[in-house]
Amino acid sequence: SMVLLDVRNVKLYYTTTKGIVKAVDNISFELDEGETLAIVGESGSGKSTLAKLLVRVWERNVSLVDGEIYLEGKEILHMPEEEFRREIRWKRIAMVPQASMNALNPVIKIGDQMTEPLLLQGTGKDEALKMAMDALESVGLPRDLVNRYPHQLSGGMKQRVIIAMSIMAHPKVVILDEPTSALDVITQANIMNLLKKLKWEYKLSYIFITHDLSLASELADSVAIMYAGKLVEIGGAEDIYTNPSHPYTQGLISSVPTLRTDKTLSFIPGEVPSLINPPSGCRFHPRCPFYKDRDYLKGLCDEKEPPMVELEGKASRKHLVACWLYK
Ligand code: ATP
Ligand code: SF4
Ligand code: MG
Repeated sequence: SMVLLDVRNVKLYYTTTKGIVKAVDNISFELDEGETLAIVGESGSGKSTLAKLLVRVWERNVSLVDGEIYLEGKEILHMPEEEFRREIRWKRIAMVPQASMNALNPVIKIGDQMTEPLLLQGTGKDEALKMAMDALESVGLPRDLVNRYPHQLSGGMKQRVIIAMSIMAHPKVVILDEPTSALDVITQANIMNLLKKLKWEYKLSYIFITHDLSLASELADSVAIMYAGKLVEIGGAEDIYTNPSHPYTQGLISSVPTLRTDKTLSFIPGEVPSLINPPSGCRFHPRCPFYKDRDYLKGLCDEKEPPMVELEGKASRKHLVACWLYK
């Protein structure tokens, strides 16, 4: 299948009073047409920062943006902002930002909020309104919701509005940043079903960001694992779930509670490291059980950054892992 998005060596650093936060530090991956790639990692691992990088929406204290992003062969990370806004954002790559349903303005009509980005891009008012109503219908909401206010809607309905906004300009790629995290279990399941329907209907490719591996498994064709600003493993979903290879991924998988076993939950001791002074070598080494146990890894894992190694996998996508155990 065809590569839609080719992300190469991207970095995004923030400046803070305490130092430079290396939130996304040299990450590469590809997204195929029609594929759903889940990006999984603990809080603070850089998932939202990566999402912001892809749609070029970031805070003012960003001190470094680097690397290349190709959308169907065309570089988009460094193209003029004016061109990116006119051609790419919303129209080719759209995002459902983290916690965005809370960002709806309670006293501005849904229709006005939905059409605003399109109007800014030069779409006519009537056309934008029609696109908004079509999108509302696609997400299972009434067309006349455009005349209502967010404060009149439930959380689940607000999230549907946000999803409608993301698809209304018919993008190819939709980035979903924790799209169900604030919702109750039933509403969460409904939204997951909606995402599946939309993916099929609009032939979308998704980047699905979550800290929840079992949620990812419902939607993902492929899974990428982030740890402390780095991508540590990526592969077809089947390879990641049946043959997790990075020690961090293994820890994550064994922390997923299952209904059938009553085994005690294992978890990964230690904390997510600071991204201002990340550990040298492999950023996971202070928490890695293999590093602790195996003498030959001393002076290696703590000093040299592990290279990406290709493993044998079943999926069509390469199974890659950044760990000295496989070199
Ligand atoms: P979560 O699961 O909690 O949403 P995340 O994986 O999305 O976490 P990010 O929000 O990308 O993580 O944050 C990555 C790191 O960058 C964190 O250490 C965070 O504190 C830091 N960070 C994020 N935004 C900024 C900012 N504007 N200025 C400084 N540091 C930031
Ligand atoms: Fe553990 Fe070393 Fe692999 Fe890092 S590179 S995960 S410290 S074995
Ligand atoms: Mg986040």
